[in-house]
Amino acid sequence: MFDVGEGVQRQLQFTTMNAGTVDKIFITHMHADHVLGLPGLLLGMSLVQKAKGNRRTFQIYGPPGLYDYIGMTFNLTKSGLESLDLEIYEMIGGDAVAGEPFNVRKHRSNIIRKTIPRQKDGTWVLQDIPNMPIIKAAEVAHLPGIQTFGFTVQEQEAPRSINADKAIAMGLKPGRKYENLKKGTPVWNDNGTIFINPENVLEGRPRKARKFSIVGDNYALSPAMIGLAQDSDVLVHEATMTKEQMENGDAVMRGHSSAEMAGVVAKRVNAKCLVLNHISPKMKTKPDIIDLRNRAKEACGETCHLVVAHDFLELMVPLHGFVDVEHE
Ligand SMILES: [Zn+2]
Ligand SMILES: [Zn+2]
Repeated sequence: MFDVGEGVQRQLQFTTMNAGTVDKIFITHMHADHVLGLPGLLLGMSLVQKAKGNRRTFQIYGPPGLYDYIGMTFNLTKSGLESLDLEIYEMIGGDAVAGEPFNVRKHRSNIIRKTIPRQKDGTWVLQDIPNMPIIKAAEVAHLPGIQTFGFTVQEQEAPRSINADKAIAMGLKPGRKYENLKKGTPVWNDNGTIFINPENVLEGRPRKARKFSIVGDNYALSPAMIGLAQDSDVLVHEATMTKEQMENGDAVMRGHSSAEMAGVVAKRVNAKCLVLNHISPKMKTKPDIIDLRNRAKEACGETCHLVVAHDFLELMVPLHGFVDVEHE
């Protein structure tokens, strides 16, 4: 789950998901509209575990300050969190906040603070283990003093399988060399008489690993974030106001993007599908939303699929990517 605004726990009740199905939580930044739902959701998750007689460890990733926010909330509200151990990973060493933001307190023992340092390439690696999606983060520019991140979730390349009949016919019995072939390395057959090219025995077409990117509130992405989001199948980007509304100088809206800006970013990173979210409550009518969509579409180009997010939207990301039917 990415960001937990107020009301998320209640809205979850009207979906096929529930608090027990949430795997990890990622927080883009500490603004209230992105974190106020977190304590309630965590309590709900703890109750789900308690009802099952389980206890589980749960990871939350976000900016420095996240540990104190969660720890302090549970201390002051005297709320139980009996069936959940929290590991809170703060991404440190960023540009927006240098070093430790303040003296970190020690909170209750089942809420642990951990840190993840920034890599040389300006990214944070949050998950990189075999057979699981690779999850990384980088900074985006929002407002001074409010460090903000974007995240990418990328599948690992799915290995193709070996047609054993074909391999055996070429004199290679199942064994360690099959793994080399799956990785694209040619091998000799068992008696060293035939050099087998992987393409001769692999079956199925290679499946491109899908990439999902979501960026927090911003008026610009860092170069590292642009690199991470490159060739995303889906990019979720805010579109708080239209260009005209921004130019009219609504000061509160500084630090945000227009629909056009979101479209330009989608084109720059070659996203196949752009999902606009974080739409201003001032955009109330259907013509407003259509206008927003058209402006983003014009900026991101013909082949970019455009979706304006709404509550309960479900978007399937096809295995072989989005296909432009008109050009098939
Ligand atoms: Zn926001
Ligand atoms: Zn914000």
